[in-house]
Amino acid sequence: MSVLELARAEIRAMQPYSSARMEAGGGKIMLNANESAWAPPGDHGLGCNRYPDPQPQALLEALASLYGVRSSQVLVGRGSDEAIDLLVRAFCRAGEDAIAIQPPTFGMYAVCARIQNAAVVEVPLSPSFTLDVDALLAALTPAVKLVFVCTPNNPTGQLVAHDDVVRLAQALAGRALLVVDEAYNEFSDAISVAGLIDRHDNLAVLRTLSKAWALAGVRIGSLLANEEVIGLLRRIMPPYPLPLPCVDLALQALSEPGQAKAREHIQVVRQQRQRMAAALAALPGVRQVLPSHANFLAVRFDDAAAVYQRLLSAGIVVRDVRRYAQLGDALRITIGTPEENDGVLTALQDVFA
Ligand SMILES: *Cc1c(COP(=O)(O)O)cnc(C)c1O
Repeated sequence: MSVLELARAEIRAMQPYSSARMEAGGGKIMLNANESAWAPPGDHGLGCNRYPDPQPQALLEALASLYGVRSSQVLVGRGSDEAIDLLVRAFCRAGEDAIAIQPPTFGMYAVCARIQNAAVVEVPLSPSFTLDVDALLAALTPAVKLVFVCTPNNPTGQLVAHDDVVRLAQALAGRALLVVDEAYNEFSDAISVAGLIDRHDNLAVLRTLSKAWALAGVRIGSLLANEEVIGLLRRIMPPYPLPLPCVDLALQALSEPGQAKAREHIQVVRQQRQRMAAALAALPGVRQVLPSHANFLAVRFDDAAAVYQRLLSAGIVVRDVRRYAQLGDALRITIGTPEENDGVLTALQDVFA
């Protein structure tokens, strides 16, 4: 059976919007899209008076080569958030289907499901925040069409073992699409599961340029999946998702010097993560620093609310994650520059003094 049989029948059957740029491009005189003939101020040769390529080939190829897949297996959108939304809309019938998640985890999966009126099946992570594959499989119902797995997980920082992903993909074959969110993979030693896409047509992988690639403001994220899934999502994606200046910045980041810069910063983050984990664990009001493979640390405090407020009054904003399951005493602290991290430690030493 094709993985597309899991998708909504009306989406498979619909006639997608056909934009001017999709139907024809590359002429000398372009009079088919009601664009202005004049470039705007500050255009720098980008040609922003024209609608952009819906999926620029140069960007698809740069991302495919970065992630080790074929360009036909890449969908580029406005952050991986857009891909999450497209997946839920394509696979979940409102009021009937469901997604499965493992709290505490990234909030957008459940938000996108609620927008689509899809149910959310929650299978909590174990007390040590690892994925319980047996519990997850036992909790699945026929309504579950998408299973989201986040590795390293936000906000806890732990990895899901490669073998567990394989086991899940196998067990879900013909039943559900397994969506592995690797937003923080670059900060870990884990090998991406994107290499498994050719073997499992029900496996999709989310990647983003927002974290390790320093482009959160540019909104470029990718879904890596088999060609059929990519083709299905392209049918429901708005016609011109990627602004030209954003594509330009992404290509610069993915150039040889851009990649060298990103690698340098990833190294700093990894060193600082180790340093911060040790320094925080030694503070008297800290109960636990969760082991992290990402660019943040989840830290449990005796009095997280007070720490949050004291950091705020020192001008330091961290993420209050106390509303997440099993993290009622925790804050999530992103790794910053060495100087910014010094600031966190100094402020915390004052709190506990
Ligand atoms: C930040 C984050 C994303 C979203 O990234 P965008 O590409 O900026 O939309 C996706 N998944 C997880 C787990 C994240 O933490």
